[in-house]
Amino acid sequence: MKKAKIRLCVNQALGEGQTVPLSREQAHYLFSVMRLREGGAVLVFNGRDGEWRARVVQAGRRDGHLQVELRTADQQDPPDLWLLFAPIKKARTDFIVEKATELGAARILPVQTEFTNAERVRRDRLQAHAVEAAEQCNGTFVPEVCALQKLDNLLSAWPGNRQLMFCDEALAGRSSALAGGLAKAPWAILIGPEGGFSDTERLHLSRLPVSHPVSLGPRILRADTAAVAALTVWQQALGDWQ
Ligand code: SAH
Repeated sequence: MKKAKIRLCVNQALGEGQTVPLSREQAHYLFSVMRLREGGAVLVFNGRDGEWRARVVQAGRRDGHLQVELRTADQQDPPDLWLLFAPIKKARTDFIVEKATELGAARILPVQTEFTNAERVRRDRLQAHAVEAAEQCNGTFVPEVCALQKLDNLLSAWPGNRQLMFCDEALAGRSSALAGGLAKAPWAILIGPEGGFSDTERLHLSRLPVSHPVSLGPRILRADTAAVAALTVWQQALGDWQ
């Protein structure tokens, strides 16, 4: 049998014989965009139960049902890695969420720093980007996108066991790579805004015992590039690429 290619993230629990009702958007995507018909196969996941093959049992214009048949992949969670970043322009923020999902972050936390321009982020829209990225990259996990919060507040209540890879543009060009022999997850990566970090923030961060100031090379990267570079470096050194 030809392998189903269409992947869909759903909310329902998944198991053999389970019926999955489709939302209006999902029905539109499967039946109008992808032209799937009754009997057609689709791969589904919910972020917890792995990936399953399901069949369309009813295809309507605004709704429909799938029936789950068999498990096609085990659940695969990323390492316990958070990505903290200061939101930038819309398209670049979308890019960061998409790439963090593909590269394997467990949680995405937009933070407001002193020099952050964005006052608010559309959390639901960013979460939808994470879902789409997981569907596209064969993932079975969708990172949670948190509401925008102040970096100061987050640091004040920082969990003592979570190491922080503090990407500091002031270290550009210095040899300050992620050191060897570090503890594995839980970790977090912190990327600043276009305006960089303030002196107060640097002070606050230098007092945090779990903070590791890191350079991402001799050039100053844009925040979206820095996020991808930092996730790559971390995954290679301490994550699930080994
Ligand atoms: N306006 C700042 C640059 C900010 S770049 C300046 O001109 O100095 C946005 C963010 O990307 C930074 O806050 C930092 O977290 C990260 N970043 C960019 N280049 C970096 C580098 N070479 N080393 C470490 N972090 C970097």
